[in-house]
Formats: sequence, C-alpha cells, structure tokens
Amino acid sequence: MQPILSPTDLAAAGERMHSLITDLYPICRSITGEGFRRTLRRLREHIPLDIHEVPTGTQVFDWTVPKEWNIRDAWIKSPTGEKVVDFRRSNLHVVNYSVPIHRRMPLTELRGHLHTLPDQPDWIPYRTSYYKETWGFCLRASELARLLEGEYEVCIDSSLENGSLTYGEYYLPGKRTDEVLLSCHACHPSLCNDNLSGVALVTSLAELLRGVSLEYSYRFLFIPGTIGSIAWLARNEKQALQIRHGLVVACVGDSAKFDYKRSRRGNAEIDRAAVHALTHSGDEFEIRDFLPYGFDERQFCSPGFNLPVGSLTRAPHGHFPENHTSADDLDFVRPQALAGSLAAYLTVLRILENNARFVNLSPKCEPQLGKRGLYRAFGGLAEAGTLEMATLWVLNLSDGSHTLLDIAERAKLPFDMIHLAAQKLRECELLAICRDTNRATTGSDVT
Ligand code: ZN
Repeated sequence: MQPILSPTDLAAAGERMHSLITDLYPICRSITGEGFRRTLRRLREHIPLDIHEVPTGTQVFDWTVPKEWNIRDAWIKSPTGEKVVDFRRSNLHVVNYSVPIHRRMPLTELRGHLHTLPDQPDWIPYRTSYYKETWGFCLRASELARLLEGEYEVCIDSSLENGSLTYGEYYLPGKRTDEVLLSCHACHPSLCNDNLSGVALVTSLAELLRGVSLEYSYRFLFIPGTIGSIAWLARNEKQALQIRHGLVVACVGDSAKFDYKRSRRGNAEIDRAAVHALTHSGDEFEIRDFLPYGFDERQFCSPGFNLPVGSLTRAPHGHFPENHTSADDLDFVRPQALAGSLAAYLTVLRILENNARFVNLSPKCEPQLGKRGLYRAFGGLAEAGTLEMATLWVLNLSDGSHTLLDIAERAKLPFDMIHLAAQKLRECELLAICRDTNRATTGSDVT
C-alpha cells in the first residue's frame, strides 16, 4: 500500500470532503429514519455501500432497536400568527425524536419545552430524546428573550412508528481476512465537525483504498451512534473477531491539534501506530488513555469484545464549545484541516499495512553495503544520512523478532523511512520477510 498523496492531491481531497459535507449538511438525520437512508444513498454515489435494515424491536444485547422517527415539518407561531421558530430554517430547532404535537398553549407552558444556550445566546443547541417519548424545540436564547407572553400554536409533524434502524457497510477485501475497522457515526442532523467530517473522511479513505493493493481487508461502517455499533456487534459477533485494528473517526475537520484516544488495551498495534504517526508528523497532538466515555469505541472496547479500536480526532467529543450547537457549521470545518486529518489517517494505515518482521540474511557482522550499492546509495536525498542509519537499524534488529514498527520506535525514525530501508535491503537480498508477520511468536517461515 503506497498512498502518500502529494500536497496538491491532498488539498484537492480536502476540498472534495468539504463539498461532500456541504451536500449532506441540510439533511435532517437521526438514529433511524429517512434522513439516515438519504445520507447513505448519497454516499453510495461514492462507494458501493451495503445498506442494512434492522427492524424496530430487535433485541441487540441489552438494548432494543427503537421505533423509527421521521419528520416533515415543525414550527411555533406567535400570538400574532408569525412563525417564530421554523424547522425549515434549521433542523436543529426540533428536539430530535420529538413525538408529534399540534396544539395551542400559553408561553408559560411552552417554556418547559424550549431549550437554549444562555452562555451562547446566538447559537441553537442540538438536543435529542431518543429513549424517552417527549417533544421540544431548540432556539437561540436571544430569540427566546424576544417572545412576548400570550398563546402560541405549536406543531411538530413527525412520526414515531415501527420501522427499522439503518446502517451502511462497505467491505473491501485485501490479501488477508484480518480486518481494519473504520467506523463513524452518521446520525447527527445539520452538524459538521461532529459528525459529517468523520463521514466525509471515511468515505474519502474508502475511495482511496479501493485503488490500492491491500494487505488487510477493510470494513467501513456508517452507523447511528451507540445503538448502531451495538446493533452491528450483535449481528456480527463472529466477524468482529477478524478485527485486528480499528479507528473510530469523528471530529476531524476543525483546526484543533490532533487527539488520539487509546484503545482499552492501551498498547495495541493501532495505539502504537497512531502515536508513532503523530510523533513524526510535525503536528501538535495529545495522547489520551482509554476511558469508557466518548464515541462508539465504548462499544468496540466493551469487555466482551475488547477490540483494538482507538479514536483519532482533532477536538475530541465535548471538548469544543461549538459541539452540538448550530456553530458547528460549514465554516467551522475547513478543507485544509480535513486534508491534514486524511494525511494522518493514511500514515497510520501505511504503518499497519507495511509493518512486518524480517530476517537479516547476512547476520554475521555487518554486510558490506558499498559493494551492493547501498553505501551512500541515497546520495541524492536530503535525508541520506538518516536513511543510512535506518538501513543499519533494520539490518541490526531484523532477527525475526522485531517488527518494522519496533525498529522505528527504537531508532526514533519515521516508519516510512524504516520501511524504505527495508525495501532497499530486500532488493539486495539482504533481508527476507517472516510470513507470520504480526503474530506474537517468532517467525521461522521465511521467504
Ligand atoms: Zn455528537
């Protein structure tokens, strides 16, 4: 697997991701319903997604698939008949999963169903009521302050009925049946960083990887948060055992520094690959230990599965004031930030794809590099000296028990450089790969 995108290609990918976000932004999504399906159908124009439906009432571990929610319109009319809150202006105005209602009531009663952000008076909050049947509206605190006492007409033209939960899945086979999981939640309405940036990045990765020869098989999931990962795991308990590495993708379009949240295992290969990629990226970043709060890694890392799944984000869940408000809009996510996130993900995947154990075929004293054209072989490259060091490290540690990632960590050199040195040594027949790469035992089967 080679995709290292040129700066021009990366910039173009950033623009494409932003335009996909722009395309999906107006759709009113929820954990079930037509909005989620419409989103998946749009994604199908980019990648051949399978769309799965799980009927309402299906038991998935300790949870039950909820009723399907759909909405056509919603508004509040003032005593003078003016629409003071209108779902058609922003789908955040309605508490997601609100039951239908159409009646008149005084403002004093209506207030109990209105949600605002007093600290951010010009932002509309995003609220949900998935597992409790109620209704409500969200509006700017500045708008609420302008409402006069009197009788208001309230209408939510929604339905909450038996139907199904929908999710999208794309399986891309590689040489091995071992899988890399890339999962994103796609259940938020008009909110960009959380979660459309993740949807756009996973789509972009799937498009890029389709054109590449892959070591691992890849599974891309577009699911509603929490209940979606629970439903997928309940339906794919056996298949989940194939997952060797995984990342939950979200909040990758803002301009905050990177944040990697380790898997529950703490030091799985995915954790080491992500930390290594960020360490050598030149970007600012933070590494956090696993905690059972956040996105769908909570389910993938539940003790009954304990899958090696981390989460690579920029501003993490709940750590930016715009999160779950109307300020998480099309301006809050930037093509350049999306492109940078894509580059970071590709670096992590390159490490997983190319990580292997090798054996030095000339292990008694150093082989003579000059006669094989390897000494000063990298003369044209600015990093020539470092590449020579990388070559010496690979030769020294390739005893069948160290992976290239082990060597890169120990040499404190970027993985790609260690990998390049290994490729050169293989071309000179100084190095052979151990076939059972990535297994815990030392390889003896050498080619
Ligand atoms: Zn969210």
